Amino acid sequence: MLEDLKVRGRIFNIQRFSIHDGHGIRTIVFFKGCPLRCKWCCNPESQNFAPEKMKENGRIKDVGRDVTVEEVLAEVERDRAYYRRSGGGMTLSGGECFAQPRFAEALLRAAKERGISTAVETTSFPEYSVIEKCLPYIDLYMTDIKQMDDEKHRAFTGKSNQTILANIEKVVKTGANVIVRVPVVPTVNATEEDIRKIAVFAKSIGVKEMHLLPYHRIGMDKYAGLGRDYSMKDIVAPEKEHMQKLLAVVQAVGLKTQIGG
Ligand code: SF4
Repeated sequence: MLEDLKVRGRIFNIQRFSIHDGHGIRTIVFFKGCPLRCKWCCNPESQNFAPEKMKENGRIKDVGRDVTVEEVLAEVERDRAYYRRSGGGMTLSGGECFAQPRFAEALLRAAKERGISTAVETTSFPEYSVIEKCLPYIDLYMTDIKQMDDEKHRAFTGKSNQTILANIEKVVKTGANVIVRVPVVPTVNATEEDIRKIAVFAKSIGVKEMHLLPYHRIGMDKYAGLGRDYSMKDIVAPEKEHMQKLLAVVQAVGLKTQIGG
């Protein structure tokens, strides 16, 4: 649809040649704004909807710019040949892409109309009606589950997990291609019991694949750059051996799994 091309939204980055966040070589569009506030978030500049300044490598840079679907697609189309050869495409990430419903839908639909494969990486927190409208234009739906215990989920992300879990179940029921992703964060969910609970839930609603993403501290300096405190500075990344144990837990539940996205 021609009018889709003029729809505007707010992003903070477009990353080409990514081999994460979906199959093959991908272009990742990072939406600005997220309803959650995960304490370990490696992209804290994604959280606020408003544009802001961030100090990086001694320089102040602007984070957040308004763009049209047409402008994003022009960037995405540059790597069309790579998508074809690798089975890749465009991934909407963030922040939370569905927190900008019109922009997400228009961008996904326009990409599909051009024959570009699409994926989303979402919290599944927004209203289901928003997600539902976009599903026809999504080839791969990747969603986080961070913790089954609602109280703990609230403590570490600022929000309840109830809407998230209900939405994921609804998405799976539509027959969509769903991968559950679990950021494995010590003190939050890195025990075998935590991971088993998530895997058992995923399996019970019909999910077939669950990826484990080990916590890292790559985004830590960004907090200082934004003038914010990083409350998880004492947390260290899980050991490889521990990740292997968690992998075995997920396999034992009967899900296809891997470490990393
Ligand atoms: S859901 Fe993702 S982008 Fe949003 S705060 Fe959590 S880690 Fe950051």
